[in-house]
Amino acid sequence: MDPLVAAIDQGTSSTRFLVFNAKTAEVMSLHQVEINQSFPKEGWVEEDPKEIMQSVYECMERTCEKLSQLNIDISNIKAVGVTNQRETTLVWDKETGEPLYNAIVWLDLRTQSTVESLINKAPGKNKNHLKHKTGLPISTYFSAVKLRWLLDNVDEVRQAVLSERAMFGTVDSWIIWCLTGGKNGGVHCTDVSNASRTMLFNIHSLDWDPELCRYFDVPMKILPKVRSSSEIYGWMKSSSLAGVPISGCLGDQSAALVGQMCFQEGQAKNTYGTGCFLLRNTGTKPLMSDHGLLTTVAYKLGKDEPACYALEGSVAIAGAVVRWLKDNLGIVKSSSEIEKLAAAVGTSYGCYFVPAFSGLYAPYWEPSARGIICGLTQFTNRNHLAFAALEAVCFQTREILDAMNQDSGVPLTELQVDGGMTSNRLLMQLQADILCIPVVQPTMSETTALGAAMAAGAAEGVGVWSLSPSHLPHVTSEKYEPQINSDESEFRFSRWKKAVQRSMNWET
Ligand code: ADP
Repeated sequence: MDPLVAAIDQGTSSTRFLVFNAKTAEVMSLHQVEINQSFPKEGWVEEDPKEIMQSVYECMERTCEKLSQLNIDISNIKAVGVTNQRETTLVWDKETGEPLYNAIVWLDLRTQSTVESLINKAPGKNKNHLKHKTGLPISTYFSAVKLRWLLDNVDEVRQAVLSERAMFGTVDSWIIWCLTGGKNGGVHCTDVSNASRTMLFNIHSLDWDPELCRYFDVPMKILPKVRSSSEIYGWMKSSSLAGVPISGCLGDQSAALVGQMCFQEGQAKNTYGTGCFLLRNTGTKPLMSDHGLLTTVAYKLGKDEPACYALEGSVAIAGAVVRWLKDNLGIVKSSSEIEKLAAAVGTSYGCYFVPAFSGLYAPYWEPSARGIICGLTQFTNRNHLAFAALEAVCFQTREILDAMNQDSGVPLTELQVDGGMTSNRLLMQLQADILCIPVVQPTMSETTALGAAMAAGAAEGVGVWSLSPSHLPHVTSEKYEPQINSDESEFRFSRWKKAVQRSMNWET
């Protein structure tokens, strides 16, 4: 039997556990559990850390049962990798093992006024004044301001810091700490890709930055130890997989970059999940954007390996707009139904939908933007709205692709894609039409989990997966070619841009 490697993929909307064959990258078994999100106030988005852990355990146990039913011995699982929604912020008590507040999800806007006052106080009111160290603009998106909110507003967090019981972490740290023993000696760590999304991390020195911690007034003793993305962090303590090393850790977008085998400078992928994230590998040097993109640590595949960086265009709302049409307007019963609805008309009939629910991320970074739907007529119906929502995802991608092409000077000639939304074939065709370049989708859709499994399997001391170019698994793909002429796509894109301007100025 070939060795197996597993991955925990803890996303914003669901948790998955997948087991891969380390020779062929074939998925042997998987299980998925949806995660509840709560919206306690307008703009607030929280998840329950205990529910997150329960979903991880449930996914692991059910996948192991499925493997047993297939007569596959789970002792063939040689390593586990973790990949996770990034920036989402947790603080827990290391003595009781209890979370001290819900996880504040990356989309959450509660820190908007803190962010505005930090920007107002910055030299020249420049939101990019920490970018030389962090690669990031000051925004509600990143963990530092969320942690600041917890320190300022939650008594239990303050008390735990004073009595040296507090631990801060993003979701990867929480999962690894719990799985390696929790209050009984769990390992408190994160990897460079996740750390680079906190705004407390220096992307050049690859460590926590005392000056940034002072700026956000964050005590350094509550931070996890920063490790590479591929090394043994610890061993599973309980569950059917007790004793298996946890040896891969990557933020979800980095994991997708690895899973899509974008190891060469210039290679890029776009992942369509709750949000949408286009990352382009820029090699071992961080490249700073002049067009509103982020500079981020993509991965560091081994203690002694160099870090690789990426330029990133982040879109806050992609699949989340479909979820909104389902949960808030009830115009579809499931996310996949939107394809049929939109395909029935094949046009938005001049309707443009800017889903700036959490402000606008790249390339605008405008926290005060809000969603708008414009161009409505008596004729507009839910089918057109569904089409406009899908088109919005494609236009947002076009904006970040244009920014990336300008920054790098070398236009992308095709776009590799993945993520939950890519099962929507209409969306993929629309994307090719709006970008005017082919869109390439791997037939194996679980690239994020594959990336985490590859990092885990390749770690020193595990060594069941080779990341050398000649050993990479062959993944087949499907290509969507543009089908409309570029004049038409330019016209629609220019209308979209007008709608974006309105979403940023609708109050004035
Ligand atoms: P995440 O990793 O952020 O949790 P996933 O990659 O699992 O996200 O994708 C889930 C998102 O994709 C949800 O927001 C859902 O609404 C959306 N989605 C899933 N299937 C479809 C589909 N067929 N058409 C459009 N959107 C979809």
